[in-house]
Amino acid sequence: MIIVKNDEQIRHMKVAGRITGEALLVAQEMIREGVTTKQIDEKIRHHIEKSGAKPSFLGYGGFPGSACISINNEVIHGIPSHDRVLKEGDIVKVDVGAYIGGFHGDSANTFGVGKISADAQKLIDVTKRSFEVGIAAITLDGGRVGDIGAAIDEYVRTNGCSTVKKYVGHGVGADLHEDPNVPNFGTKGRGPRLCRGMVIAIEPMVNAGADGVLERPDHWTVVTKDGSLSAHYEHTVALTADGPLLLTKVD
Ligand code: MG
Ligand code: MG
Repeated sequence: MIIVKNDEQIRHMKVAGRITGEALLVAQEMIREGVTTKQIDEKIRHHIEKSGAKPSFLGYGGFPGSACISINNEVIHGIPSHDRVLKEGDIVKVDVGAYIGGFHGDSANTFGVGKISADAQKLIDVTKRSFEVGIAAITLDGGRVGDIGAAIDEYVRTNGCSTVKKYVGHGVGADLHEDPNVPNFGTKGRGPRLCRGMVIAIEPMVNAGADGVLERPDHWTVVTKDGSLSAHYEHTVALTADGPLLLTKVD
């Protein structure tokens, strides 16, 4: 069941979104060689709690961190660790959520550590651009969820990369994951109708190689099957009469 939000609820979601976006900026500022993913996670948790919110991911399904931090061929759900030290050339995905006022925010981005390869930079650029293409596909006069995924997937494939199929975007609200699913692939004109008051996390996960993924034995970390690099870009987006509003965008 899709839970549509009224203007008052979207105002609350803006607060959760802002804190989420700020937490991601805190992470971005820390990205450099020698930093551990646990150090980033601790700073994120500190920022969220200092803002009066709760880290949405901490304890979610038993997840042990406040952020998912995934490196290179890791797609999503990387567990922050003192043993994971960033090194020059890595690409790092940070995925974070904050809960306050009864609502969640959810946002992710991919950052390069020092100088990264041209291929890695292209993957990051294609992933962010595919999100923007997905946003541009949103219409409230008959538009469908499938329009978003179809646009994202076409853009990604045109650029020689592939979208992950096993994990998808989702509704966001009082629960971190609500209906509907928002896949990064699909068919234009299919899926639930897009309407004012829907709040969805649009989050392309893009592999430089094939779209297959595997779960590591830690039961969390998702990696590309072929070992290729993967990038992630996500905002929580409210569909308003004035157009899509990126609740987690602060920069
Ligand atoms: Mg997320
Ligand atoms: Mg999400």
